[in-house]
Amino acid sequence: MLNFKVLVVPMLAPRSYTREDVVELQCHGSEVCMRRVLRACLEGGARLAEPGEFTLRAFLNGRLDLSQAENVGKLISAQSVAAADAALAGIQGGFSSLVKSLRAQCIELLTEIEARLDFDDEMPPLNLNLIKEKIHAMSGDVENALETANYDKLLQSGLQIAIVGRPNVGKSSLLNAWSKSERAIVTDIAGTTRDVVEASISVRGIPITLLDTAGIRQTEDVVEKIGVERSEAVAMGADVIIFTVSAPDGWTVEDANLFDRIQSNKVLQFAIGSSSPMILVVNKIDCAPSACSEWNTHGNSFNKLIFTCAVSGRGLPDLEMAILEIVGLNRIPSGGRKWTVNQRQCEQLVRTKEALVRLKSSIEEEIPLDFWTIDLREAALALAQISGEDISEEVLSNIFGKFCIGK
Ligand code: GDP
Repeated sequence: MLNFKVLVVPMLAPRSYTREDVVELQCHGSEVCMRRVLRACLEGGARLAEPGEFTLRAFLNGRLDLSQAENVGKLISAQSVAAADAALAGIQGGFSSLVKSLRAQCIELLTEIEARLDFDDEMPPLNLNLIKEKIHAMSGDVENALETANYDKLLQSGLQIAIVGRPNVGKSSLLNAWSKSERAIVTDIAGTTRDVVEASISVRGIPITLLDTAGIRQTEDVVEKIGVERSEAVAMGADVIIFTVSAPDGWTVEDANLFDRIQSNKVLQFAIGSSSPMILVVNKIDCAPSACSEWNTHGNSFNKLIFTCAVSGRGLPDLEMAILEIVGLNRIPSGGRKWTVNQRQCEQLVRTKEALVRLKSSIEEEIPLDFWTIDLREAALALAQISGEDISEEVLSNIFGKFCIGK
């Protein structure tokens, strides 16, 4: 009988991740050894952990609140440094303590109002100005937290940006300069980029996939035709379209035709509610520096107008800023956000915000106190759903089911 050497590390309650007694087994690195140790444990009566079970136990035992636990999940699946940093800030509890404080304020107000309902004669009147100020400050905090939701979504899913334009305007050169790589082949023979070339960059922590599309033009070449069709499909599916033209050539008939084709596709997209914003990039500005003002008329048909020189990289910071503005992230500090709220937390914050808006108008319209308590209770309940103080089994299994096994 061969024996393994296994290191056994006991972590006794409450000083463990789950606040329970935990024993960690560390065995030889190969999967064979690990499976044998696992089998021995299972034969000895242990069972395999469920997805997210350790974090669920940590939550149930009060080691973490629900929003911190959700950030553990975010940290495990983080694809970028910024996403990991935001998740870590969430685990450290910045958002949790905000939610806790907002809920405590709701309950404090609720207690004051309910006391007036029960013992009106014996109590001093409510200080309405003070209450309104409090609600105003709370609404401000909720708004600030809500502002992080868009950034959170982009941190998780990133942005796809398609660079389109007729052949030879400098699309591949732009992609290379931007991604500082040589992934796209750059030549001066029209129609070289026959397929979609991808490069990854990161702007303020947001992962961006740049898609250099084949010069979209009418062509009889079968291979190029396939490339062109793929380019069109990619361009239409992107979050932002960069429409590239060449400054020395001016706005050509081909540019106008391409623009019309994209516009008519965009009309279709608009009908289904997903039209992508478009930036006009006037490239090779080094070859026609005096032409800037002439582009303003064409620029009006686009969300932004930017001048670049792909050879020197001039204009690329402006292009990044234009993209951030278009997706509503220009107010994000360059170091990124401290913490961000996910979709579930965002829904509950919107519920809180709406309850506070109703409460404010109830006070202004002098509606009876009973109605104030309904809105305050609603706000407190929404906040409790974020922290997990009031949460259903179904929501819990939904959240922890997305974790990997064990963690
Ligand atoms: P694409 O077909 O649109 O991808 O165009 P390319 O990136 O292959 O560029 C076509 C030619 O234009 C190449 O010779 C590039 O070196 C040149 N080029 C691209 N951008 C600039 C620029 O900003 N200034 C100058 N002077 N030349 C450029």
